Amino acid sequence: MTFAELWRELEPLGRDPGTGGYRRYSWTPADAACRAWFTRQAERLGLTVEPDNNGNLWAWWGPERTNVIVTGSHLDSVPDGGGYDGALGVVSALAAVEELQARDFYPERGMVLAVFTEEEGARFRVACLGSRLMTGAIDPDAARALSDDEGITLAQAMAAAGGDPGRLGPRDDLLDTIDAVVELHVEQGRALAPLGSAVGIAKGIWPHGRWRLDFRGRADHAGTARLADRKDPMLPYARTVLAARRAAADSGALATIGKVIAEPGGANGVSSAVTAWLDARAPDEARLEKAVTAVRSASMRYSSECGVTVTISPESYTPPVHFDENLRDRIEGVLAAAGIPEISRAPVLPTGAGHDAGILAARVPTAMLFVRNPTGVSHSPAEHADLADCEAGVHALAAVLEDLAARP
Ligand SMILES: [Zn+2]
Repeated sequence: MTFAELWRELEPLGRDPGTGGYRRYSWTPADAACRAWFTRQAERLGLTVEPDNNGNLWAWWGPERTNVIVTGSHLDSVPDGGGYDGALGVVSALAAVEELQARDFYPERGMVLAVFTEEEGARFRVACLGSRLMTGAIDPDAARALSDDEGITLAQAMAAAGGDPGRLGPRDDLLDTIDAVVELHVEQGRALAPLGSAVGIAKGIWPHGRWRLDFRGRADHAGTARLADRKDPMLPYARTVLAARRAAADSGALATIGKVIAEPGGANGVSSAVTAWLDARAPDEARLEKAVTAVRSASMRYSSECGVTVTISPESYTPPVHFDENLRDRIEGVLAAAGIPEISRAPVLPTGAGHDAGILAARVPTAMLFVRNPTGVSHSPAEHADLADCEAGVHALAAVLEDLAARP
């Protein structure tokens, strides 16, 4: 099957007909449909699909399981996410294998397509959960106890979907067999468009994290409680949103409050509590810390002025990632020699977006390919990549896999 044919099959799965956005949350029926589709496609190519103990899928090509080359990405989405984030890397991996098979290539070393679970952290709030579990970056007990907005724990959700949460945990044995990881991903920004290249190579990932802010006040009657008597958590919350924007601009960072829950959530009452999530990223840790500290102190000052308490707790943190320089240089050389104008001068780019490849980079040589996103919009139904660029990405990935598989 061509890339376009594969794409057309995956495209409707988990898409909301109203918004056109994707709601592929881990361990839901939409997630199961995506997994089943991947399994079917990988098996059609003769690969052996094995779920690991952490809920990630591994599709093995060939008999060897040593000196393993890994490619893949994720199939889960943010709320109303775009179709390309994650899925492009998975579909491109399948299409690249198909391209290599059409050239009668057969790997003499382990080659595997991986689909990582809960990369977005959209359901259980820890991004890259599948790769974090694999590398031991999160404790299995802590992971099992993570809960979604309905109070369902990861352990419960995984068990309900037929998984065994009792087996969650690090996989040093598997990591020790891996020589290289290459994740292809849609670009989540607009760096490639003005450079005239369909494909870019990742330099590194900015340090980034998520913080939960709990503002606690007192529920009251919107019609009778005097303004002076209220303890309204919405007020310090609202000012904190603006403070985050200012702190980001002042620190050369990015800071976003994109999720908020007001309780009890009545239109005619003062809220008792407001919970918000801060996402912050920066080119280096000093600037990130500066921004987060500014938001923290602003939220505390505004809360005390309003008679509200606030607690700020980190939910996840990823230090800066520097991808493997040797692997990056080698990929640059492969693309330059591939004889395809759209990919031959692939620029090297930094990114503020987290990826499983960034987690795995702490343990194994890791690289990423980005496919041009003409508008740069991501985490939105408007996210897009042109078919010709996606196809160029498949050719690039196939060339890289062939090169990595051929020599040490
Ligand atoms: Zn992604």
